Amino acid sequence: VTAPKPQRMATKPVPEPTVASRPFWAGCAAGELRLPRCRDCRVVHFYPRSFCPACGGADLEWIRSRGTGTVHATTVVRRPFWGDAFAEDVPYNVVLVALDEGITMLSAVVGVPAESVYIGMPVAVEFVPRGEISLPLFRPREIDPSGDRAEQR
Ligand SMILES: [Zn+2]
Repeated sequence: VTAPKPQRMATKPVPEPTVASRPFWAGCAAGELRLPRCRDCRVVHFYPRSFCPACGGADLEWIRSRGTGTVHATTVVRRPFWGDAFAEDVPYNVVLVALDEGITMLSAVVGVPAESVYIGMPVAVEFVPRGEISLPLFRPREIDPSGDRAEQR
């Protein structure tokens, strides 16, 4: 436990912002989870793209997500891929988070053992820097059923 971990040459990959996703990544850097919404049909969608997947409209705006949701699906990664980059992280989990705004986002739950993540687990976004990017990862959150309902107006 106290022995220093060996230096590894491999570095973890980071997302490369595109024209369509640049506002999303700028939001993450600012501590805000931003989601694209169509001004024509009002549908919130994800991932970011230059048109609305519901109606094909190109008039999009960005809304600030509450950053809360529940785990929709989870799996545990036990063998590192990407070379050695994730060798020290296994086992880790990969999740689909169902955000309160109605979209799902591929991410990971941090701060708890990978195996303890379950479908339906309430989570909240947490931004974790990696290189030039802040990654939107998630942490388990406590919910007070009455308080949570009151928050949703
Ligand atoms: Zn639309």
